[in-house]
Amino acid sequence: MDGRNAMSLHAFWARDLGVGSVRGVAEFAFRREPESCYTMPMGGPAAGEDAASVAGAIAPDAALTALVGIGPKVAARLEAAGLRRCFDLVMLFPRRCRALRELAEPEEAAIGELVRLSGAVHRVSLQWLPGRRAMVTVTFACDDGSTFAAAFFNQPWLKKNYPVGQRRQVEGVLQRKGRKWLLGSPRILPQQVAAAGEVQLRYPEVDGVSARRLQQWIAQALDRLDWSRVSLPELPRELAEMDLDARTLLLAMHRPRDVAEHDRARRHFAVREALHLFRAVERAQQARAARRASRFAVDAGLRRRILQRIPFALTADQRRAVEGLWQRLAGPGAMGVLLQGDVGTGKTAVAVAASLAVAAKGGLSAFLLPTELLAEQQCAVVRRWLAGSEVQVVLCTASERRRVPAAGPRIVFGTHALLAGDIDLPGLSLVVVDEQQRFGVGQRMALVQKGANPHVLVMTATPIPRTLALVLFGDLDLVMLRHRPPGRRPVPAMHVATDAWPRAVRSIARAVRRGGRVFVVCPAVGDDGEKGGVMRVRESLVGKFRCGVVHGRMKAAERQRALARFRDGIDDVLIGTTVLEVGIDVPDATLIVVVAADRFGIATLHQLRGRVGRGRRRGLALLCGPRTARVDAVCRTTDGFALAEADLALRGSGELLGTQQSGFADLRALDPIADLELLRRVRDAVRSPIVEAR
Ligand code: ADP
Ligand code: MG
Repeated sequence: MDGRNAMSLHAFWARDLGVGSVRGVAEFAFRREPESCYTMPMGGPAAGEDAASVAGAIAPDAALTALVGIGPKVAARLEAAGLRRCFDLVMLFPRRCRALRELAEPEEAAIGELVRLSGAVHRVSLQWLPGRRAMVTVTFACDDGSTFAAAFFNQPWLKKNYPVGQRRQVEGVLQRKGRKWLLGSPRILPQQVAAAGEVQLRYPEVDGVSARRLQQWIAQALDRLDWSRVSLPELPRELAEMDLDARTLLLAMHRPRDVAEHDRARRHFAVREALHLFRAVERAQQARAARRASRFAVDAGLRRRILQRIPFALTADQRRAVEGLWQRLAGPGAMGVLLQGDVGTGKTAVAVAASLAVAAKGGLSAFLLPTELLAEQQCAVVRRWLAGSEVQVVLCTASERRRVPAAGPRIVFGTHALLAGDIDLPGLSLVVVDEQQRFGVGQRMALVQKGANPHVLVMTATPIPRTLALVLFGDLDLVMLRHRPPGRRPVPAMHVATDAWPRAVRSIARAVRRGGRVFVVCPAVGDDGEKGGVMRVRESLVGKFRCGVVHGRMKAAERQRALARFRDGIDDVLIGTTVLEVGIDVPDATLIVVVAADRFGIATLHQLRGRVGRGRRRGLALLCGPRTARVDAVCRTTDGFALAEADLALRGSGELLGTQQSGFADLRALDPIADLELLRRVRDAVRSPIVEAR
């Protein structure tokens, strides 16, 4: 099923309801059932080919080809985006609705505001910018003779779209440059679509279909749908703020008079989506609690033995987390825990302590890690910890595929190679997913399914607000590591402008002189010597320092050698790609230099700086390249939570790491960040006394 499809909301709902197939999904939306969001009243005409029915009105479940202008070819494109029936079209909600001012001509007072202007196309020019970027500038003349311009990047074909003299409406943020008026982030409205009042609506993009046509079809569906056959199931009383019918709500979504009207309707649908989310989450949680799993009790003797294996005293936080995991492992149900802790808070030790409880009873634990380098390294570390014990520590990656022993106390560290069908994990009792933000829910489940109801521990260094965590990982209990091990200080970051590269080199020299090790991270390998690539950067540093190179395309053995040389101080500088991002642990590393930092996301930059300052000495991160908002955010704070929030604010929740596969991408009305309050309210309304009592 196409769970990843950006628009298959029905699929998403259905998945949570256990309706597996796309067919099931379509039926679901019209079934009368307390859980469905949109139902047809009973006794309505049956669905079928003749559904496009009475008096020109279109049945909600009529195929899209019932609409004027949609043929089989277009219908196929729409179907690829999850739009199959006419009803799906009216359920395609705008992503954004913003207030705008309608102006007759540009005016000083409106600078910085979102405005709509109309004018006749006066001139269209195409300009080529460096890097083969095209810029099309369309200049419009207003009735009073003043002009304004709208620029579009990388769409050279637009030049032909606007014949001189044609009148168009244009929306954008009013700006002035010298004496010229400009519209920022402009949008030229489709000619045939009436502008939606005082608001600007933006719809999701559908491949192969223009925004203009999409809006026309939505408008047509709104006008022609047989509304007597669409109804909304009742909401629980405490959530039912508005008692409106489906048509009124949907008109408010697509043709609001103002932003407030749209937002009221949007919140209504958001409540419905949240309700489904939480009900599903709660069912999943109850199902997990009800599932029997092997029990792994930890008595005082075992507790001592396990803690002795870890070469440092656990922090109070780690202790608490470990005890929590042991307790759950000993219980009758399957454990499901999300362990959240910023980079460097020591999650590995906690997970290992849990896996040793399993090993003590002859069970197998599997660690799923995002990169081979990380798997190799963690495997080596834990092997050292367990040297001389009976526990077999095995590595399983694409380049080093080992058979997992069939019995006895075992821990396997692996990458996605672990998920391959021919890898057996006999007696798998604990699944640990490290750096979960790098994996999808599907991958987590694939590993879980290799065992008979194993316990699950998911770890992440990408903090997310608590309510959001409840939605994303609702079936998991949240356990937090708030404090770092003693002596581990957060790593500040500084920006270094592109032309100040020599400064970065001087910093590297200084760090090396003081006996530190330096990571240099590049966005690409750059085999052809491209700027900012590992190869090119290596060339510029190799004369000055003893340099090693590491990237994902090297053989495992080579990579290990490079890392060992670096750790042992044979090389002072290790140049690599983001394979260095997670988990690498070299205590003497004090400086990390990120080349072209503007090409990395906030979470990655924060992870990267977590690679240094792990020993006695303070760490520092230098972020080279243009100063972007993301780079700025990472320089401003070392607080992972604040950064996660900044990240969300900059990117919008839709792109939240790891959410693409989680079902979040399917939300249409609900914005899990902006609607945090709403989420809380719905959750409180849904929370059952049983869960409360536990
Ligand atoms: P993360 O939470 O980012 O996965 P790690 O588990 O890699 O963090 O731990 C980071 C570093 O801190 C490792 O070198 C680890 O050995 C060390 N460490 C973890 N816990 C402690 C502790 N209680 N005392 C001292 N060092 C610790
Ligand atoms: Mg880690």
